[in-house]
Amino acid sequence: MKVPFITKEEVEKIAKWCPTPFHIYDEKGIRENARRLNKAFSWNKGFKEYFAVKATPNPTILKILHEEGCGTDCSSLAELVMSERCGIVGENIMFSSNDTPAEEFVKAAELGAFINLDDFTHIEFLKKTAGIPKKIFCRFNPGGIFSLGESKEGFQVMDNPGDAKYGMTEEQLIEAFRQLADLGAESFGIHSFLASNTVTNDYYPELASILFRLAVRVKKETGISVSYINLSGGVGVAYKPDQEENDIMVIGEGVRKKFEEILVPEGLGDISIFTELGRYMLAPYGELVTKAVHEKHIYKEYIGVDACAANLMRPAMYGSYHHITVLGKENEKAEYKYDVTGSLCENNDKFAIDRMLPKIEKGDYLVIHDTGAHGFSMGYNYNGRLWSAELLKREDGSVVQIRRPQTLDDYFATLDDYWDI
Ligand SMILES: *Cc1c(COP(=O)(O)O)cnc(C)c1O
Repeated sequence: MKVPFITKEEVEKIAKWCPTPFHIYDEKGIRENARRLNKAFSWNKGFKEYFAVKATPNPTILKILHEEGCGTDCSSLAELVMSERCGIVGENIMFSSNDTPAEEFVKAAELGAFINLDDFTHIEFLKKTAGIPKKIFCRFNPGGIFSLGESKEGFQVMDNPGDAKYGMTEEQLIEAFRQLADLGAESFGIHSFLASNTVTNDYYPELASILFRLAVRVKKETGISVSYINLSGGVGVAYKPDQEENDIMVIGEGVRKKFEEILVPEGLGDISIFTELGRYMLAPYGELVTKAVHEKHIYKEYIGVDACAANLMRPAMYGSYHHITVLGKENEKAEYKYDVTGSLCENNDKFAIDRMLPKIEKGDYLVIHDTGAHGFSMGYNYNGRLWSAELLKREDGSVVQIRRPQTLDDYFATLDDYWDI
């Protein structure tokens, strides 16, 4: 059973000063989870998590994670500037982008960030724009199909790196390291991201063994001892209540075993392990709170809420499951079958389809779970829908606003000069 981290009473209090819909985050949960991750990898002395800013680009969240020892993983100018404005700079930033504009390489270099090259041709591009730094990463794409076979509850992790736009081939990566060394680079990192939202403890260990073997090959063929291996993101969360969650301690231990087995015998035991988790760090610690405003009975039963896909795009875009709790009705039987919809003039604007829930009355508050990552951040202004506020439940239980809601003035701001044309 999924239990929200806020109660009906708390929401009623908040709604007096911040109308629904809003995203709210749980500071306690975020901190405890970050500490668990750091503990799981504490066997590796250079370990560092670079939080994927795109998952939850909010300065307060970045600062909380920074206090827990995390850096930022940025992939755009705005994300670099946000990190800078939070005081998170230098090697606390991993710049993992693709199809990268010149100005972003320049900004990343100015901040002293680690730069991760997505493509072989970016060596030349970087040389001409920001110059080749002393420390450099290259992103690897093994091609083909990545599969972990059957894992828990028969769920198979499979992704198709051969169709993914990211990274370099193995031959390109080895040649890239040679060229970068010739151009003055001294420390090297390998990065790869092969599968998203994996709910199995086997993904990181399997990815690690692929990258560790590659590091061994790099050493044999070029004499270069890789300094960093970046396992990137992809560790998932159990969006469905009956899914078994990942166990980060088991994952950390799995990576350690591969490290001892593959790297240590080759004299590569000093390699630092990095991660760029987004979803795992934040998804369960964010909730979208919305109010039922309409009910409609046609061929199906609909509940219309005041949030829409502009606040949370994942269900509309990927058909993703997000659990829903009707606040105050946690112990009632889920006997009614509803489609829970937003107001966009798009039929995919549904947070849930054929979902069994307790009877919903107008005015009920609904918590949409696990929206802390790739939730608010994927928001958009379609249909002129405005961004909601972001709130934080502090460790002492108090609630503060960490981003105000967008206003109509914000929405029209880019048109200010154009009304009279
Ligand atoms: C999106 C992304 C991440 C984070 O992925 P999650 O699935 O949220 O863990 C990390 N690194 C890069 C380069 C990404 O694009």
